[in-house]
Amino acid sequence: MAAMKKILADRTSTIDASGIRRVFALGAAMKDPVDFSIGQPDFETPQALKEEAIKAIKAGQNKYSQTAGDGVLREKIGEQVRKEFGWAKPAVLVTSGVSGGLLLAFLSLINPGDEVIIPDPYFVIYKHVVNMLGGRCIFVDSYPEFRLPVEKIAEAITAKTKMIIVNSPCNPSGAVYLQREIKALAEIAAEKDIVVISDQIYEKFCYDGGYTSIGSYYKKTLLLRGFGKSYAMTGWRLGYAAADECLASVIEEMTKIQQYTFVCAPTPFQKAAIAAMDYDTSEFVAAYRKKRDLLYAGLKDKFELVKPSGAFYAFVKAPSQGNATEFVEKAIKNEVLIIPGSVFSEKDTHFRISYATSDEKIRRGVEILCKLV
Ligand code: PMP
Repeated sequence: MAAMKKILADRTSTIDASGIRRVFALGAAMKDPVDFSIGQPDFETPQALKEEAIKAIKAGQNKYSQTAGDGVLREKIGEQVRKEFGWAKPAVLVTSGVSGGLLLAFLSLINPGDEVIIPDPYFVIYKHVVNMLGGRCIFVDSYPEFRLPVEKIAEAITAKTKMIIVNSPCNPSGAVYLQREIKALAEIAAEKDIVVISDQIYEKFCYDGGYTSIGSYYKKTLLLRGFGKSYAMTGWRLGYAAADECLASVIEEMTKIQQYTFVCAPTPFQKAAIAAMDYDTSEFVAAYRKKRDLLYAGLKDKFELVKPSGAFYAFVKAPSQGNATEFVEKAIKNEVLIIPGSVFSEKDTHFRISYATSDEKIRRGVEILCKLV
């Protein structure tokens, strides 16, 4: 161990992946567990989109694309965000997944000591990459209802605040922020002139009405969107970053860094993404709404949980005896794989369920969890 310490860079000591690893390690030996741990859709990639990718490969689209992305795809994304947000001259960068976009955005924006405001619970990558770059995460508690904590965010802003991250629908809570919450945050960000990163990877998975992007109300929004979850193609590593002209310099820097890191997003899949943008996913969304209802109905009498409105997660309070990690270990011993909330939070009171699995598995998992209370 002492020898390892010498070869590893100091920044590696800020990253802790033990929470999720423990779940995988415990689950690996099981034959047929109820896997509520997985953060991706369980449906197949649509056949028509697979065929687009195969067509692109067969047509020889196998070399690097432009660093910023395939020209036709970028044009189409630009057209879409222009219409949606009224950004006259949007800047667009096709990224290797939303993770790629996040890394490039953080590398372009965060200096050591800069503060990043993040509602808690949060998607894990934010914390670890901000820390790795010497930034300071300022977590703003959104328990127990998981609404966008606008007032607390306003109170957390200091002269060092560099950005605010908004993730709606939220991983892990499944919360979808309301128009009035988003508008209120836009006003605060505008008043203090702070960039907002809007991670909208689960945007298509909304079950109880419309979706509001902060991009509709605030020009200094760096929009991050992904293809992986919407079309069940997480392995294709595709997403994009887009912004109004006022943040064009950020997209430009991100593009420069992409040139020296990822180089470009996978070329044949970018071709398929052009078709994906016109693909209707309402059938998947309807199926996931039913799964949400099934899970919620099964758990609500035994557990404390807010009905999730989006994504495919529920963030459930663990029974009060002990901490959430202890309950998670008990669940895993009973062949239900869930993730302790401490992976996504500064608290260890909840656990995350991903209901992106078969209805049969949801029923079985719910039955087992209810017996453990
Ligand atoms: N943001 C959020 C909120 C996520 O949950 C995920 C994936 N779990 C990502 C970004 C990264 O997605 P991608 O696979 O596109 O890199």
